[in-house]
Amino acid sequence: MSTVVAIDGPAGAGKSTVARALAARMGYVYVNTGMLYRAIAYAAGAAGIDLESVPADFLNRLQLEPENDGVRLNGRRLEEELRTPECSQGASVVSKQPEVRAALLPIQRRAAERGWIVMEGRDIGTVVFPDAAAKFFITATVEERARRRLAQLGNRAGQLTLDAVKAEIEERDLRDSTRKIAPLKPAPGAIVVDTTGLTIEQVVERLAGELARA
Ligand code: C5P
Repeated sequence: MSTVVAIDGPAGAGKSTVARALAARMGYVYVNTGMLYRAIAYAAGAAGIDLESVPADFLNRLQLEPENDGVRLNGRRLEEELRTPECSQGASVVSKQPEVRAALLPIQRRAAERGWIVMEGRDIGTVVFPDAAAKFFITATVEERARRRLAQLGNRAGQLTLDAVKAEIEERDLRDSTRKIAPLKPAPGAIVVDTTGLTIEQVVERLAGELARA
């Protein structure tokens, strides 16, 4: 039997916050897969590699392990370094590449060997764990997602305006949902939850209720 709760959805929908809270409530391990794509963008950027075509031998040399909210890259824990707007866009660019997705697939699948997990990303219910025990697609209007993202950035937002954050999110969503491989879309059988106007607690309550029924 699958021990995976899959949570997918567009940028800024609150997936991480909800997935983390749901995992804590259920006593499951939380896995943030966006951090893996961010780590590849970070490592490639640092090595001066074109993010549009990351070579396979570079990918093969990276040691990546998801770790709760962050990732271990060649033994070094990364988290805050990966939350920059540059890493968000970079992750979305590298994630279009088949080699990148193929390299991350076994790493993500291995995470389920740890027992029950809540895994969030863009293709968890469609590609990584199509047989997940429960699948959710979490969304919200782009205005609400931009507001949340700006609030989450706090001091790090600097000169960023709401319109700029909205444009960044729209650009990323378009790239993520129109790419050829593993595009962002609700998995067959996924429960779609529009979180616009809902609090984190209300969303977690809803998901926990669905898990109890699953
Ligand atoms: O979830 P997060 O915003 O951190 O993800 C960063 C980017 O990584 C996404 O915009 C998407 O392009 C890519 N990603 C993906 N598949 C996943 C998780 C993230 O393509 N499962």
